Amino acid sequence: MENSDSSSFNIPSIKFTKLFINGEFVDSLSGEEFETIDPRTEEVIAKISEGRKEDIDVAVKAARHAFDNGPWPRMPGVQRAKIMMKWADMIEENIEEISALEAIDAGKLYSWVKAVDIPLLANTIRYYAGAADKIHGQVLKASMEFHAYTLMEPIGVVGHIIPWNFPSTMFGAKVAPSLAAGCTMVLKPAEQTPLTALFYAHLAKQAGIPDGVLNVVPGFGSTAGAALSSHMDVDKISFTGSTDVGREVMVAAARSNLKPVSLELGGKSPILIFDDADVDKAAELALFGFLFNKGEICVAGTRVFVQEGIYDEFEKKLVEKAKAWVVGDPFDPKSQQGPQANKKQFEKILSYIEHGKREGATLLTGGKRVGDKGYYIEPTIFSNVKEDMLIVQDEIFGPVLALKKFKSIEEGIISANNSKYGLASGIVTKNIDIANTVSRSIRAGTVWINCYFAFGDDIPYGGYKMSGFGRDYGLDALHKYLQVKSVATPIYNSPW
Ligand code: NAD
Repeated sequence: MENSDSSSFNIPSIKFTKLFINGEFVDSLSGEEFETIDPRTEEVIAKISEGRKEDIDVAVKAARHAFDNGPWPRMPGVQRAKIMMKWADMIEENIEEISALEAIDAGKLYSWVKAVDIPLLANTIRYYAGAADKIHGQVLKASMEFHAYTLMEPIGVVGHIIPWNFPSTMFGAKVAPSLAAGCTMVLKPAEQTPLTALFYAHLAKQAGIPDGVLNVVPGFGSTAGAALSSHMDVDKISFTGSTDVGREVMVAAARSNLKPVSLELGGKSPILIFDDADVDKAAELALFGFLFNKGEICVAGTRVFVQEGIYDEFEKKLVEKAKAWVVGDPFDPKSQQGPQANKKQFEKILSYIEHGKREGATLLTGGKRVGDKGYYIEPTIFSNVKEDMLIVQDEIFGPVLALKKFKSIEEGIISANNSKYGLASGIVTKNIDIANTVSRSIRAGTVWINCYFAFGDDIPYGGYKMSGFGRDYGLDALHKYLQVKSVATPIYNSPW
Protein backbone atom coordinates (compact mmCIF):
# COMPACT_ATOMS: atom_id res chain seq x y z
CA MET A 1 0.00 0.00 0.00
CA GLU A 2 1.25 3.46 -0.85
CA ASN A 3 1.99 5.92 1.91
CA SER A 4 -0.91 8.18 2.69
CA ASP A 5 -0.61 11.88 2.03
CA SER A 6 -4.03 12.72 3.49
CA SER A 7 -2.31 14.35 6.46
CA SER A 8 -1.49 17.23 4.12
CA PHE A 9 -5.11 17.38 2.95
CA ASN A 10 -7.49 19.80 4.57
CA ILE A 11 -10.30 17.51 5.79
CA PRO A 12 -13.40 19.70 6.19
CA SER A 13 -15.20 20.07 9.49
CA ILE A 14 -18.61 18.39 9.54
CA LYS A 15 -21.29 21.08 9.46
CA PHE A 16 -24.53 19.12 9.01
CA THR A 17 -25.37 16.20 11.27
CA LYS A 18 -29.10 16.59 11.93
CA LEU A 19 -32.26 15.61 10.09
CA PHE A 20 -33.36 18.07 7.41
CA ILE A 21 -37.13 18.42 7.67
CA ASN A 22 -39.32 21.23 6.35
CA GLY A 23 -36.31 23.38 5.53
CA GLU A 24 -34.65 23.12 8.95
CA PHE A 25 -31.95 20.97 10.52
CA VAL A 26 -33.56 19.34 13.57
CA ASP A 27 -32.69 16.73 16.19
CA SER A 28 -34.43 13.39 15.95
CA LEU A 29 -37.44 13.10 18.23
CA SER A 30 -35.77 10.34 20.26
CA GLY A 31 -32.60 12.41 20.59
CA GLU A 32 -30.64 9.31 19.54
CA GLU A 33 -27.57 9.53 17.33
CA PHE A 34 -25.44 7.06 15.38
CA GLU A 35 -21.82 7.20 14.34
CA THR A 36 -20.52 7.50 10.82
CA ILE A 37 -17.08 5.91 10.45
CA ASP A 38 -14.04 6.82 8.36
CA PRO A 39 -13.13 3.57 6.55
CA ARG A 40 -9.51 4.73 6.17
CA THR A 41 -8.94 4.87 9.90
CA GLU A 42 -11.94 2.99 11.37
CA GLU A 43 -12.49 6.11 13.54
CA VAL A 44 -15.70 8.06 14.13
CA ILE A 45 -16.14 11.05 11.81
CA ALA A 46 -19.31 12.44 13.37
CA LYS A 47 -22.44 11.58 15.30
CA ILE A 48 -25.57 11.88 13.20
CA SER A 49 -29.17 12.32 14.45
CA GLU A 50 -30.92 9.03 14.01
CA GLY A 51 -34.26 9.31 12.24
CA ARG A 52 -36.86 6.70 13.14
CA LYS A 53 -40.50 6.04 12.35
CA GLU A 54 -41.73 9.12 14.22
CA ASP A 55 -39.27 11.36 12.35
CA ILE A 56 -40.29 9.82 9.02
CA ASP A 57 -43.90 10.67 9.97
CA VAL A 58 -42.97 14.31 10.54
CA ALA A 59 -40.96 14.46 7.30
CA VAL A 60 -43.76 12.86 5.26
CA LYS A 61 -46.24 15.30 6.76
CA ALA A 62 -43.99 18.21 5.66
CA ALA A 63 -43.65 16.73 2.17
CA ARG A 64 -47.41 16.12 1.97
CA HIS A 65 -48.17 19.69 2.99
CA ALA A 66 -45.65 21.01 0.45
CA PHE A 67 -47.25 18.85 -2.23
CA ASP A 68 -50.88 19.61 -1.43
CA ASN A 69 -50.52 23.31 -0.66
CA GLY A 70 -47.04 24.52 -1.58
CA PRO A 71 -45.74 26.28 -4.69
CA TRP A 72 -43.40 23.56 -6.04
CA PRO A 73 -45.90 21.35 -7.93
CA ARG A 74 -47.82 24.42 -9.09
CA MET A 75 -45.03 26.65 -10.34
CA PRO A 76 -44.22 26.77 -14.08
CA GLY A 77 -41.64 24.18 -15.01
CA VAL A 78 -39.26 26.88 -16.14
CA GLN A 79 -39.22 28.32 -12.63
CA ARG A 80 -38.46 24.92 -11.08
CA ALA A 81 -35.71 24.59 -13.67
CA LYS A 82 -34.19 27.94 -12.70
CA ILE A 83 -33.96 26.93 -9.05
CA MET A 84 -32.55 23.51 -9.91
CA MET A 85 -29.90 25.07 -12.17
CA LYS A 86 -28.86 27.38 -9.35
CA TRP A 87 -28.64 24.40 -6.99
CA ALA A 88 -26.42 22.53 -9.47
CA ASP A 89 -24.11 25.55 -9.72
CA MET A 90 -23.88 25.80 -5.93
CA ILE A 91 -22.97 22.12 -5.68
CA GLU A 92 -20.11 22.67 -8.14
CA GLU A 93 -18.97 25.78 -6.27
CA ASN A 94 -18.54 23.56 -3.19
CA ILE A 95 -17.01 20.64 -5.07
CA GLU A 96 -13.82 20.35 -3.01
CA GLU A 97 -15.54 20.25 0.34
CA ILE A 98 -18.20 17.83 -0.91
CA SER A 99 -15.61 15.54 -2.54
CA ALA A 100 -13.63 15.40 0.68
CA LEU A 101 -16.77 14.56 2.68
CA GLU A 102 -17.56 11.72 0.27
CA ALA A 103 -13.97 10.43 0.42
CA ILE A 104 -13.90 10.22 4.22
CA ASP A 105 -17.45 8.87 4.53
CA ALA A 106 -17.36 6.25 1.75
CA GLY A 107 -13.63 5.64 1.21
CA LYS A 108 -13.95 6.79 -2.41
CA LEU A 109 -11.00 8.30 -4.26
CA TYR A 110 -11.08 12.05 -3.73
CA SER A 111 -9.84 12.79 -7.26
CA TRP A 112 -12.52 10.55 -8.80
CA VAL A 113 -15.35 11.96 -6.78
CA LYS A 114 -14.26 15.44 -7.81
CA ALA A 115 -13.78 14.54 -11.48
CA VAL A 116 -16.73 12.18 -11.96
CA ASP A 117 -19.32 11.82 -9.19
CA ILE A 118 -20.01 15.46 -8.37
CA PRO A 119 -19.99 16.73 -11.99
CA LEU A 120 -22.36 13.86 -12.88
CA LEU A 121 -24.64 14.83 -10.00
CA ALA A 122 -24.65 18.51 -11.05
CA ASN A 123 -25.29 17.61 -14.68
CA THR A 124 -28.07 15.21 -13.72
CA ILE A 125 -29.80 18.07 -11.92
CA ARG A 126 -29.30 20.26 -15.03
CA TYR A 127 -30.53 17.52 -17.38
CA TYR A 128 -33.83 17.16 -15.51
CA ALA A 129 -34.10 20.91 -14.97
CA GLY A 130 -34.07 21.15 -18.77
CA ALA A 131 -37.00 18.73 -18.92
CA ALA A 132 -39.09 20.45 -16.23
CA ASP A 133 -40.89 22.75 -18.70
CA LYS A 134 -41.40 20.05 -21.34
CA ILE A 135 -43.72 17.78 -19.38
CA HIS A 136 -47.01 17.48 -21.21
CA GLY A 137 -49.66 14.99 -22.20
CA GLN A 138 -51.19 14.24 -25.58
CA VAL A 139 -54.31 15.20 -27.45
CA LEU A 140 -56.18 11.99 -28.23
CA LYS A 141 -58.53 11.08 -31.02
CA ALA A 142 -60.97 9.28 -28.74
CA SER A 143 -64.07 9.29 -30.98
CA MET A 144 -66.18 11.70 -33.01
CA GLU A 145 -68.13 12.57 -29.87
CA PHE A 146 -65.36 13.25 -27.41
CA HIS A 147 -62.38 15.48 -27.18
CA ALA A 148 -59.85 13.71 -24.95
CA TYR A 149 -56.38 14.45 -23.76
CA THR A 150 -53.90 13.35 -21.12
CA LEU A 151 -52.30 15.37 -18.37
CA MET A 152 -48.96 14.39 -16.86
CA GLU A 153 -49.18 15.07 -13.16
CA PRO A 154 -46.53 14.67 -10.46
CA ILE A 155 -47.07 11.42 -8.59
CA GLY A 156 -47.02 13.10 -5.18
CA VAL A 157 -44.85 12.45 -2.13
CA VAL A 158 -41.90 10.23 -3.06
CA GLY A 159 -39.80 8.15 -0.67
CA HIS A 160 -36.22 7.65 -1.87
CA ILE A 161 -33.96 5.04 -0.24
CA ILE A 162 -30.34 4.91 -1.41
CA PRO A 163 -27.17 2.88 -0.72
CA TRP A 164 -23.66 3.86 0.40
CA ASN A 165 -21.54 3.09 -2.65
CA PHE A 166 -22.41 6.18 -4.71
CA PRO A 167 -24.03 8.51 -2.19
CA SER A 168 -23.91 11.58 -4.44
CA THR A 169 -24.79 10.17 -7.84
CA MET A 170 -27.59 8.05 -6.35
CA PHE A 171 -28.91 11.15 -4.62
CA GLY A 172 -28.97 12.96 -7.98
CA ALA A 173 -30.50 10.04 -9.88
CA LYS A 174 -33.44 9.98 -7.46
CA VAL A 175 -33.98 13.58 -6.44
CA ALA A 176 -33.42 15.41 -9.75
CA PRO A 177 -36.14 13.76 -11.90
CA SER A 178 -38.68 13.77 -9.07
CA LEU A 179 -38.07 17.47 -8.40
CA ALA A 180 -38.41 18.26 -12.11
CA ALA A 181 -41.71 16.35 -12.17
CA GLY A 182 -43.03 18.58 -9.36
CA CYS A 183 -42.98 15.97 -6.61
CA THR A 184 -42.04 16.50 -2.97
CA MET A 185 -39.94 13.90 -1.18
CA VAL A 186 -38.28 12.29 1.80
CA LEU A 187 -34.86 10.76 1.14
CA LYS A 188 -33.20 8.29 3.46
CA PRO A 189 -29.46 8.06 2.77
CA ALA A 190 -27.56 4.93 3.74
CA GLU A 191 -26.63 4.93 7.43
CA GLN A 192 -22.97 4.46 6.45
CA THR A 193 -22.81 7.61 4.28
CA PRO A 194 -25.17 10.39 5.38
CA LEU A 195 -22.83 13.40 5.08
CA THR A 196 -23.17 14.60 1.49
CA ALA A 197 -26.98 14.25 1.32
CA LEU A 198 -27.27 16.63 4.28
CA PHE A 199 -24.89 19.06 2.57
CA TYR A 200 -27.02 18.98 -0.59
CA ALA A 201 -30.15 19.64 1.48
CA HIS A 202 -28.51 22.74 2.95
CA LEU A 203 -27.61 23.98 -0.55
CA ALA A 204 -31.11 23.19 -1.85
CA LYS A 205 -32.57 25.62 0.65
CA GLN A 206 -30.03 28.31 -0.32
CA ALA A 207 -30.90 27.76 -3.99
CA GLY A 208 -34.59 28.38 -3.30
CA ILE A 209 -36.16 24.92 -3.15
CA PRO A 210 -39.16 25.60 -0.89
CA ASP A 211 -39.38 24.15 2.61
CA GLY A 212 -40.87 20.68 2.80
CA VAL A 213 -40.08 19.79 -0.84
CA LEU A 214 -36.82 17.95 -0.10
CA ASN A 215 -36.49 16.29 3.31
CA VAL A 216 -33.45 14.19 4.25
CA VAL A 217 -33.78 11.75 7.14
CA PRO A 218 -30.67 9.69 7.97
CA GLY A 219 -31.35 6.49 9.88
CA PHE A 220 -31.27 2.72 9.68
CA GLY A 221 -33.05 0.57 7.14
CA SER A 222 -35.09 -1.53 9.52
CA THR A 223 -36.53 1.57 11.22
CA ALA A 224 -36.45 4.71 9.04
CA GLY A 225 -36.31 2.85 5.71
CA ALA A 226 -39.09 0.44 6.65
CA ALA A 227 -41.24 3.33 7.95
CA LEU A 228 -40.89 5.09 4.60
CA SER A 229 -41.71 2.08 2.43
CA SER A 230 -44.74 1.17 4.54
CA HIS A 231 -46.02 4.72 5.00
CA MET A 232 -49.67 5.23 4.06
CA ASP A 233 -49.07 8.78 2.87
CA VAL A 234 -46.09 8.14 0.59
CA ASP A 235 -47.21 7.85 -3.05
CA LYS A 236 -44.15 6.14 -4.54
CA ILE A 237 -40.94 4.46 -3.41
CA SER A 238 -37.78 4.64 -5.45
CA PHE A 239 -35.23 2.25 -4.01
CA THR A 240 -31.61 1.45 -4.84
CA GLY A 241 -29.87 -1.25 -2.84
CA SER A 242 -29.60 -5.00 -2.46
CA THR A 243 -32.03 -7.48 -3.98
CA ASP A 244 -33.01 -8.86 -0.56
CA VAL A 245 -33.94 -5.46 0.82
CA GLY A 246 -35.64 -4.52 -2.46
CA ARG A 247 -37.96 -7.46 -1.95
CA GLU A 248 -38.79 -6.26 1.58
CA VAL A 249 -39.48 -2.77 0.31
CA MET A 250 -41.86 -4.11 -2.33
CA VAL A 251 -43.71 -6.23 0.21
CA ALA A 252 -44.03 -3.25 2.57
CA ALA A 253 -45.33 -1.08 -0.26
CA ALA A 254 -47.87 -3.74 -1.24
CA ARG A 255 -49.01 -4.33 2.33
CA SER A 256 -49.53 -0.63 3.05
CA ASN A 257 -51.11 1.57 0.40
CA LEU A 258 -50.05 -0.32 -2.78
CA LYS A 259 -47.72 2.51 -3.71
CA PRO A 260 -45.78 1.90 -6.92
CA VAL A 261 -42.17 0.88 -6.45
CA SER A 262 -39.09 1.05 -8.64
CA LEU A 263 -36.10 -1.07 -7.70
CA GLU A 264 -32.46 -0.71 -8.75
CA LEU A 265 -30.86 -3.80 -7.24
CA GLY A 266 -27.77 -5.95 -7.27
CA GLY A 267 -25.79 -7.39 -10.16
CA LYS A 268 -23.13 -9.87 -11.19
CA SER A 269 -22.34 -8.51 -14.60
CA PRO A 270 -20.56 -10.54 -17.28
CA ILE A 271 -17.95 -9.33 -19.75
CA LEU A 272 -17.44 -11.46 -22.88
CA ILE A 273 -14.06 -11.07 -24.56
CA PHE A 274 -13.76 -12.59 -28.03
CA ASP A 275 -10.73 -13.97 -29.87
CA ASP A 276 -10.41 -10.93 -32.16
CA ALA A 277 -10.02 -8.47 -29.27
CA ASP A 278 -6.88 -6.43 -28.66
CA VAL A 279 -5.69 -8.40 -25.63
CA ASP A 280 -3.96 -5.57 -23.83
CA LYS A 281 -6.91 -3.20 -24.18
CA ALA A 282 -9.35 -5.95 -23.19
CA ALA A 283 -7.32 -6.70 -20.05
CA GLU A 284 -7.33 -2.99 -19.21
CA LEU A 285 -11.11 -2.87 -19.65
CA ALA A 286 -11.67 -5.97 -17.50
CA LEU A 287 -9.33 -4.66 -14.81
CA PHE A 288 -11.19 -1.38 -14.52
CA GLY A 289 -14.49 -3.26 -14.84
CA PHE A 290 -14.03 -5.09 -11.56
CA LEU A 291 -11.85 -2.62 -9.63
CA PHE A 292 -13.50 0.74 -10.22
CA ASN A 293 -14.79 2.10 -6.90
CA LYS A 294 -13.08 -0.93 -5.22
CA GLY A 295 -15.66 -3.19 -6.83
CA GLU A 296 -18.44 -1.52 -4.85
CA ILE A 297 -20.55 -0.79 -7.87
CA CYS A 298 -23.67 -2.70 -8.82
CA VAL A 299 -22.60 -2.99 -12.48
CA ALA A 300 -19.05 -4.23 -11.72
CA GLY A 301 -17.91 -6.70 -14.39
CA THR A 302 -17.14 -9.52 -11.97
CA ARG A 303 -17.65 -12.51 -14.30
CA VAL A 304 -15.22 -12.34 -17.19
CA PHE A 305 -15.49 -14.94 -19.95
CA VAL A 306 -12.61 -15.06 -22.42
CA GLN A 307 -12.58 -17.01 -25.68
CA GLU A 308 -10.05 -19.85 -25.74
CA GLY A 309 -7.79 -18.45 -28.52
CA ILE A 310 -6.59 -15.53 -26.37
CA TYR A 311 -7.35 -16.86 -22.89
CA ASP A 312 -3.79 -17.61 -21.74
CA GLU A 313 -2.33 -14.32 -22.93
CA PHE A 314 -5.28 -12.43 -21.48
CA GLU A 315 -4.98 -14.10 -18.07
CA LYS A 316 -1.26 -13.28 -17.87
CA LYS A 317 -1.79 -9.61 -18.77
CA LEU A 318 -4.74 -9.17 -16.43
CA VAL A 319 -2.85 -10.61 -13.48
CA GLU A 320 0.18 -8.38 -14.21
CA LYS A 321 -2.05 -5.33 -14.30
CA ALA A 322 -3.89 -6.30 -11.12
CA LYS A 323 -0.56 -6.69 -9.30
CA ALA A 324 0.45 -3.18 -10.38
CA TRP A 325 -2.87 -1.61 -9.27
CA VAL A 326 -2.30 0.81 -6.39
CA VAL A 327 -4.38 0.34 -3.24
CA GLY A 328 -4.03 3.25 -0.84
CA ASP A 329 -5.41 6.30 0.88
CA PRO A 330 -8.20 7.90 -1.17
CA PHE A 331 -6.58 11.33 -0.91
CA ASP A 332 -3.27 10.11 -2.36
CA PRO A 333 -3.29 11.00 -6.08
CA LYS A 334 -1.39 7.78 -6.84
CA SER A 335 -4.11 5.58 -5.32
CA GLN A 336 -6.36 3.67 -7.69
CA GLN A 337 -8.40 1.95 -5.00
CA GLY A 338 -9.37 3.14 -1.52
CA PRO A 339 -10.71 1.15 1.43
CA GLN A 340 -13.99 -0.76 1.28
CA ALA A 341 -16.74 1.50 2.59
CA ASN A 342 -17.42 -0.21 5.89
CA LYS A 343 -16.43 -3.06 8.20
CA LYS A 344 -19.38 -5.29 7.37
CA GLN A 345 -18.59 -5.07 3.68
CA PHE A 346 -14.87 -5.65 4.29
CA GLU A 347 -15.55 -8.81 6.28
CA LYS A 348 -18.10 -10.06 3.77
CA ILE A 349 -15.60 -9.75 0.89
CA LEU A 350 -12.83 -11.55 2.79
CA SER A 351 -15.20 -14.37 3.68
CA TYR A 352 -16.21 -14.79 0.02
CA ILE A 353 -12.52 -14.97 -0.90
CA GLU A 354 -12.00 -17.75 1.65
CA HIS A 355 -15.08 -19.49 0.32
CA GLY A 356 -13.69 -19.30 -3.23
CA LYS A 357 -10.49 -20.98 -2.11
CA ARG A 358 -12.45 -23.71 -0.32
CA GLU A 359 -14.67 -24.23 -3.36
CA GLY A 360 -11.55 -25.13 -5.35
CA ALA A 361 -11.13 -22.08 -7.59
CA THR A 362 -7.53 -21.09 -8.39
CA LEU A 363 -6.44 -17.86 -6.72
CA LEU A 364 -4.32 -16.10 -9.36
CA THR A 365 -3.56 -12.96 -7.36
CA GLY A 366 -4.68 -11.07 -4.26
CA GLY A 367 -6.89 -12.66 -1.64
CA LYS A 368 -5.79 -10.69 1.43
CA ARG A 369 -6.28 -7.55 3.43
CA VAL A 370 -3.77 -4.75 2.69
CA GLY A 371 -2.03 -3.36 5.78
CA ASP A 372 -3.49 -3.66 9.26
CA LYS A 373 -5.53 -0.47 9.52
CA GLY A 374 -8.47 0.55 7.34
CA TYR A 375 -10.63 -1.67 5.17
CA TYR A 376 -8.22 -2.19 2.27
CA ILE A 377 -8.33 -5.40 0.18
CA GLU A 378 -6.04 -6.61 -2.62
CA PRO A 379 -7.42 -6.93 -6.16
CA THR A 380 -8.33 -10.61 -6.27
CA ILE A 381 -8.71 -12.86 -9.32
CA PHE A 382 -9.93 -16.45 -9.37
CA SER A 383 -9.68 -18.76 -12.38
CA ASN A 384 -10.82 -22.37 -12.93
CA VAL A 385 -14.21 -21.43 -11.58
CA LYS A 386 -17.38 -23.46 -12.03
CA GLU A 387 -20.50 -21.49 -12.74
CA ASP A 388 -22.38 -22.83 -9.74
CA MET A 389 -19.72 -21.61 -7.30
CA LEU A 390 -20.86 -18.90 -4.89
CA ILE A 391 -18.06 -16.58 -6.05
CA VAL A 392 -19.56 -16.78 -9.55
CA GLN A 393 -23.21 -16.52 -8.58
CA ASP A 394 -23.29 -14.09 -5.62
CA GLU A 395 -22.76 -10.37 -5.72
CA ILE A 396 -19.62 -9.90 -3.59
CA PHE A 397 -19.47 -6.12 -4.02
CA GLY A 398 -15.71 -5.93 -3.73
CA PRO A 399 -12.51 -6.25 -5.81
CA VAL A 400 -13.01 -9.92 -6.65
CA LEU A 401 -13.17 -11.38 -10.17
CA ALA A 402 -14.10 -14.82 -11.51
CA LEU A 403 -12.37 -15.64 -14.81
CA LYS A 404 -13.47 -18.42 -17.17
CA LYS A 405 -12.65 -19.70 -20.66
CA PHE A 406 -15.30 -20.29 -23.35
CA LYS A 407 -15.25 -21.80 -26.84
CA SER A 408 -18.17 -20.77 -29.05
CA ILE A 409 -20.28 -17.59 -29.17
CA GLU A 410 -23.30 -19.62 -28.07
CA GLU A 411 -21.43 -20.99 -25.05
CA GLY A 412 -20.36 -17.44 -24.11
CA ILE A 413 -23.96 -16.19 -24.27
CA ILE A 414 -25.22 -19.08 -22.13
CA SER A 415 -22.55 -18.37 -19.49
CA ALA A 416 -23.27 -14.63 -19.52
CA ASN A 417 -26.98 -15.28 -18.92
CA ASN A 418 -26.35 -17.88 -16.23
CA SER A 419 -27.19 -15.51 -13.38
CA LYS A 420 -30.25 -14.46 -11.44
CA TYR A 421 -29.14 -10.87 -12.10
CA GLY A 422 -29.38 -8.82 -15.29
CA LEU A 423 -28.06 -5.35 -14.64
CA ALA A 424 -25.20 -4.73 -17.07
CA SER A 425 -22.81 -6.55 -19.39
CA GLY A 426 -19.80 -5.96 -21.62
CA ILE A 427 -18.66 -7.27 -25.00
CA VAL A 428 -15.18 -6.85 -26.44
CA THR A 429 -14.91 -7.61 -30.15
CA LYS A 430 -14.17 -5.88 -33.45
CA ASN A 431 -16.69 -8.11 -35.23
CA ILE A 432 -19.96 -6.25 -35.79
CA ASP A 433 -21.92 -9.48 -36.27
CA ILE A 434 -20.77 -10.85 -32.93
CA ALA A 435 -21.51 -7.50 -31.27
CA ASN A 436 -25.02 -7.37 -32.74
CA THR A 437 -25.85 -11.00 -31.95
CA VAL A 438 -24.54 -10.95 -28.42
CA SER A 439 -25.98 -7.56 -27.46
CA ARG A 440 -29.44 -8.81 -28.44
CA SER A 441 -29.00 -12.12 -26.62
CA ILE A 442 -27.83 -10.89 -23.24
CA ARG A 443 -30.62 -10.36 -20.73
CA ALA A 444 -29.39 -7.21 -19.04
CA GLY A 445 -30.49 -3.58 -18.86
CA THR A 446 -27.21 -2.29 -20.29
CA VAL A 447 -24.74 -3.67 -22.84
CA TRP A 448 -21.41 -1.89 -23.24
CA ILE A 449 -19.58 -2.74 -26.45
CA ASN A 450 -15.81 -2.10 -26.38
CA CYS A 451 -16.21 0.09 -23.32
CA TYR A 452 -17.41 -0.24 -19.74
CA PHE A 453 -19.12 2.12 -17.28
CA ALA A 454 -20.35 4.37 -20.11
CA PHE A 455 -22.83 6.28 -17.96
CA GLY A 456 -24.65 9.46 -18.80
CA ASP A 457 -27.48 11.47 -17.35
CA ASP A 458 -29.45 10.79 -20.57
CA ILE A 459 -28.77 7.01 -20.72
CA PRO A 460 -31.48 4.96 -18.97
CA TYR A 461 -30.06 2.54 -16.48
CA GLY A 462 -31.65 -0.38 -14.64
CA GLY A 463 -32.13 -4.08 -14.42
CA TYR A 464 -33.60 -7.21 -15.93
CA LYS A 465 -34.43 -10.24 -13.78
CA MET A 466 -33.57 -9.87 -10.08
CA SER A 467 -31.63 -6.67 -10.70
CA GLY A 468 -34.94 -4.86 -10.42
CA PHE A 469 -37.24 -2.82 -12.62
CA GLY A 470 -37.75 0.80 -13.56
CA ARG A 471 -34.97 2.99 -14.91
CA ASP A 472 -32.86 5.76 -13.43
CA TYR A 473 -31.45 8.48 -15.72
CA GLY A 474 -32.81 9.51 -19.09
CA LEU A 475 -36.38 10.64 -19.66
CA ASP A 476 -37.57 7.16 -18.64
CA ALA A 477 -36.75 8.12 -15.04
CA LEU A 478 -38.83 11.29 -15.23
CA HIS A 479 -41.86 9.19 -16.09
CA LYS A 480 -41.49 7.18 -12.87
CA TYR A 481 -42.53 10.32 -11.02
CA LEU A 482 -45.49 11.25 -13.22
CA GLN A 483 -49.06 10.03 -13.38
CA VAL A 484 -51.11 9.96 -16.56
CA LYS A 485 -54.56 11.47 -16.14
CA SER A 486 -57.06 11.17 -18.97
CA VAL A 487 -59.61 13.93 -19.46
CA ALA A 488 -62.56 13.61 -21.88
CA THR A 489 -65.41 15.94 -22.73
CA PRO A 490 -68.24 15.71 -25.31
CA ILE A 491 -67.73 17.78 -28.44
CA TYR A 492 -71.39 18.02 -29.57
CA ASN A 493 -74.68 17.81 -27.73
CA SER A 494 -73.26 18.17 -24.29
CA PRO A 495 -76.05 17.28 -21.85
CA TRP A 496 -74.92 20.20 -19.65
P1 NAD B 1 -28.96 -2.38 1.27
O1 NAD B 1 -30.06 -2.98 0.50
O2 NAD B 1 -28.47 -3.06 2.48
O3 NAD B 1 -29.34 -0.91 1.73
C1 NAD B 1 -29.81 0.07 0.81
C2 NAD B 1 -30.66 1.07 1.54
O4 NAD B 1 -31.82 0.40 2.03
C3 NAD B 1 -29.98 1.70 2.76
O5 NAD B 1 -30.37 3.05 2.84
C4 NAD B 1 -30.58 0.91 3.91
O6 NAD B 1 -30.60 1.63 5.12
C5 NAD B 1 -31.99 0.67 3.40
N1 NAD B 1 -32.68 -0.46 4.03
C6 NAD B 1 -32.15 -1.56 4.62
N2 NAD B 1 -33.13 -2.36 5.10
C7 NAD B 1 -34.30 -1.77 4.78
C8 NAD B 1 -35.68 -2.12 4.97
N3 NAD B 1 -36.03 -3.23 5.61
N4 NAD B 1 -36.62 -1.27 4.49
C9 NAD B 1 -36.29 -0.14 3.84
N5 NAD B 1 -35.01 0.25 3.64
C10 NAD B 1 -34.02 -0.56 4.09
O7 NAD B 1 -27.80 -2.16 0.21
P2 NAD B 1 -26.38 -1.53 0.46
O8 NAD B 1 -25.56 -2.55 1.16
O9 NAD B 1 -26.50 -0.16 1.07
O10 NAD B 1 -25.88 -1.28 -1.05
C11 NAD B 1 -25.33 -2.29 -1.79
C12 NAD B 1 -26.35 -2.88 -2.72
O11 NAD B 1 -26.93 -1.88 -3.53
C13 NAD B 1 -25.73 -3.86 -3.67
O12 NAD B 1 -26.54 -5.00 -3.80
C14 NAD B 1 -25.70 -3.09 -4.99
O13 NAD B 1 -25.68 -3.87 -6.13
C15 NAD B 1 -26.92 -2.28 -4.89
N6 NAD B 1 -26.84 -1.12 -5.77
C16 NAD B 1 -27.60 -1.12 -6.90
C17 NAD B 1 -27.53 -0.06 -7.78
C18 NAD B 1 -28.36 -0.03 -9.04
O14 NAD B 1 -28.49 1.02 -9.64
N7 NAD B 1 -28.92 -1.14 -9.47
C19 NAD B 1 -26.69 1.02 -7.51
C20 NAD B 1 -25.93 0.98 -6.35
C21 NAD B 1 -26.02 -0.09 -5.48
